[in-house]
Amino acid sequence: MATAAANVLGNPYDAAMENFEIAANALELEMNIRTMIKYPERVLGVTVPIKMDNGEVYPFQGYRVQHNTSRGPAKGGIRYHPNVNEDEIKALASWMTWKCAVVNIPFGGGKGGVTCDPKNMSQRELEHLTRRYTNAILPLIGPGRDIPAPDVYTNPQIMAWIMDTYSMTKGYLIPGVVTGKPISLGGSQGRNEATGRGVLYTVQCACEHLHLPLKRAKVVVQGFGNAGSVAADLLHSHKCYVMAASDSRGCIYNKDGLDIPTLMLHKEKTGSVAGFPSSESITPQELLALECDILIPAALENAIHGGNASQVRAKIIAEAANGPVTPDADRVLDVNGVFIIPDILCNAGGVTVSYFEWVQDEQHLFWEEQEVYARLERIMKRSFSEVLTIHLERKVNMRTAANMLGIGRVAEATRVRGLYP
Ligand code: NAD
Repeated sequence: MATAAANVLGNPYDAAMENFEIAANALELEMNIRTMIKYPERVLGVTVPIKMDNGEVYPFQGYRVQHNTSRGPAKGGIRYHPNVNEDEIKALASWMTWKCAVVNIPFGGGKGGVTCDPKNMSQRELEHLTRRYTNAILPLIGPGRDIPAPDVYTNPQIMAWIMDTYSMTKGYLIPGVVTGKPISLGGSQGRNEATGRGVLYTVQCACEHLHLPLKRAKVVVQGFGNAGSVAADLLHSHKCYVMAASDSRGCIYNKDGLDIPTLMLHKEKTGSVAGFPSSESITPQELLALECDILIPAALENAIHGGNASQVRAKIIAEAANGPVTPDADRVLDVNGVFIIPDILCNAGGVTVSYFEWVQDEQHLFWEEQEVYARLERIMKRSFSEVLTIHLERKVNMRTAANMLGIGRVAEATRVRGLYP
């Protein structure tokens, strides 16, 4: 049973456990293997005391969870957000395990986070927090062990501080300890836009499957951050109408489509989509209920839940965020015929290019942008096709199909390794 609710709408760890059982039942997975792979292997909680700019020491709470390492080192982002808690990080780590297996890259699942409000912290405070948190999780991380990356409110600069802190303890530069680094420190071409680009590839596959033209498709994006803004920009460049976008400070709408490159500049300058010229302000509830072809939740967990799922009027939901649709909502959306591209498939472009970055760092041999994109497109489209085949042949929804593919691969690795006691 989960320990603390992350959100009044539901605990993401409970949702992860529920979806695991649905897929494990469909796979008729034996009980011993279920028990081996269902729970996190390691959960580390740390207190990170930081001297704030006002001179007071504040004890931030942090976590690093390794969910499963049967297929390779743990891999997963680090989140800085006021709502971060142990259950959220455990859920996110388990989704990383299944995600890496869905795209068939040799990683297990991990995740980390610190409960903090980075928007109200100075650069000095953020750097100290990052370096001390890195020191606290040091026994767990390393290029062959556990490789962090950016997630909500963390970025390439924060990855650079993590890499520097880790490298200082070893006495030489170890770029492979994190991904999502600046290019000048061993980052990969294309990593920054990888998640959004993966969303585009899976949306293209879904449209083809549903015989829905992508050109002139109406798109709505909740969460105009790294994943959401890049997905919006790429879909805009494919002639979609991105009618609405939101972030934590506002929601905007224009029925004829927003000019996304200009909106990105507006967000960079002002810190929010709010107040964008040639748009009207709407509420978050109105945004999710807009009639559209493709709805992209790209913010946090539980955006679409039992209380609002029936208002969704999208044909496709492309889950750029992790865990944006609760199991309750899944049941409503299934009945209403909404086609879901589940998170562990839809947003797997980020971890896939993180894998490319790690390979390049380990080999000291760097690829050009076009090579990164070509490899990413191949992996995303192959993975979509594998999930779709299970969806059609086994008559399960797309989420269960993706979980069956991921969980099945982890189960197979566990069986072959003979990890029984
Ligand atoms: P980010 O920090 O770049 O952006 C998050 C955005 O969401 C911000 O614009 C923020 O204002 C907005 N937001 C927060 N609360 C909101 C709310 N209640 N309503 C609307 N908008 C809200 O983070 P990101 O890296 O883009 O991550 C977003 C989601 O994508 C997360 O679920 C993350 O786990 C997932 N994801 C990210 C990556 C990646 O490579 N960055 C990869 C896979 C999955």
